[in-house]
Amino acid sequence: MTLKLDKYIQCPKCQRLVTVDTLKISCFSCGELFFKQNGVWKDLEGTGQTLPPFYRNANWEKYQKNQSVFHRRYYCESNVSSRLEYLFKKNVIGLVDRWVKPVLDFGCGNGMDLEFFPHLDDVIAVDLHFDTLCQAARRHKKPVYFQSDIASSMFKLSSFQTILAFDVLEHVFALDLTVQSLANILHPEGFMYVLIPTEGGLASFCRKIYTAPKYSKMFGYDYADAMKYEHCNSCFAVEDALKKWFIIDEKKGWPSPTTDSLTNLVWAYRLRKRV
Ligand SMILES: [Zn+2]
Repeated sequence: MTLKLDKYIQCPKCQRLVTVDTLKISCFSCGELFFKQNGVWKDLEGTGQTLPPFYRNANWEKYQKNQSVFHRRYYCESNVSSRLEYLFKKNVIGLVDRWVKPVLDFGCGNGMDLEFFPHLDDVIAVDLHFDTLCQAARRHKKPVYFQSDIASSMFKLSSFQTILAFDVLEHVFALDLTVQSLANILHPEGFMYVLIPTEGGLASFCRKIYTAPKYSKMFGYDYADAMKYEHCNSCFAVEDALKKWFIIDEKKGWPSPTTDSLTNLVWAYRLRKRV
């Protein structure tokens, strides 16, 4: 490991200094211990928040239970959705002029984003789901993986020169808090790159006629209903939140050359934080 972790992280419970050993992170102030398992630092969620009542929905609960199986099928390499996902990410990666380290991949999933910069040291990858983090850790050995909620304040202020948030802000319930936390940990001269689905005319149509019936049948629940909870933020809500703490340096739609939400499947952003 080339990354000196204690330079970037603090205790997610009390925001004090921690010491990092090979398999253990210790906070001397509050006594919290965090452990590494299968190449992933576990349970650094810290906020102790319970799931908001919003998520009390049977279809979403079933979707969550099947999350890792679903991700494995959805992102298997031969799948159309997976190939599209790759094109979306290639589009947002096109906004990166040069990689400035250290890099935070927020919501790294099973590690697909990391394919685009496998040579890089000093990459920290964060996700909420332990199973998908384990998949990412098997695919790419170099990054350091954390199971954490970004709003948990486990990272020190202005720690990162580059932050990636690909296909993640549409999922986040505490949107403002999360975007503000991302701004806090981005270096004043750094850039954040965001990819979000537009849920535009074409995307909604494809989901309605192809994806929803396919996954409803495969997993035995109403996929379209589960998505209302899984994608709880529209692209407009995400953009409004981003504008509060960031300046839009560039915005690109895909596949249309315009940036409207109807003809595009995704929007990609390069952002600087407001200082
Ligand atoms: Zn502590």
